[in-house]
Amino acid sequence: MRILGFSSGPFQTNCYIIVDDATKRACLIDAGMGTHKIVTGVLEEEDLSLEAIFLTHGHIDHTRDAATFRVPVFIHEADAFMLDHGRGLSASTLQLFDAASMAAVSELRTFSADGGVGVPGFNFEVTHAPGHSPGSVLYRMGDVVFSGDVVFAGSVGRTDLPYSDPEAMKASLRGPVWAIDDGTSLLPGHGPSTTMKHERVTNPFLLEARKQ
Ligand SMILES: [Zn+2]
Ligand SMILES: [Zn+2]
Repeated sequence: MRILGFSSGPFQTNCYIIVDDATKRACLIDAGMGTHKIVTGVLEEEDLSLEAIFLTHGHIDHTRDAATFRVPVFIHEADAFMLDHGRGLSASTLQLFDAASMAAVSELRTFSADGGVGVPGFNFEVTHAPGHSPGSVLYRMGDVVFSGDVVFAGSVGRTDLPYSDPEAMKASLRGPVWAIDDGTSLLPGHGPSTTMKHERVTNPFLLEARKQ
């Protein structure tokens, strides 16, 4: 598997294209504003077919263009309501992302339990890690974890948003995040990639949550 990452939209949200060169198939982790144009260009250029989109959570900066690809869209059921025109964030944020013209996902695939999710050729081990949003998850593929807005290089996701829960976030950080093994690369929803080994000893928010 080959992973192409880029950021787009008002919050510079990361989108990852996972490519299987053997089958010429691809899937996406998150599909924020501006991803439709960029991803479509890559798919055409490399003659790839897009099979599915896996959303790390429901915030509009990660979901804005998801419906436009017309492929199955996976999301934890606790965040599915946010796909309705970006519900759950402030009016000014929704305006920034032109939420009013956000299309509805036609092939929605929600899940609630930890375990395997995927489509033929792309399988992930999913772990619920609520706090930043109720339905935030970690997607593992091999030695890579797509960590959404749960954990970033040197930081963690905000917990002052309308559906955030600071206590749940701390529990996620000392639980499922801390349990990620040191050999894992973290590809977050914003900013550069990192490793669990590095975050475990340098990330102040992770260390703070661990103390409590
Ligand atoms: Zn978010
Ligand atoms: Zn975000």
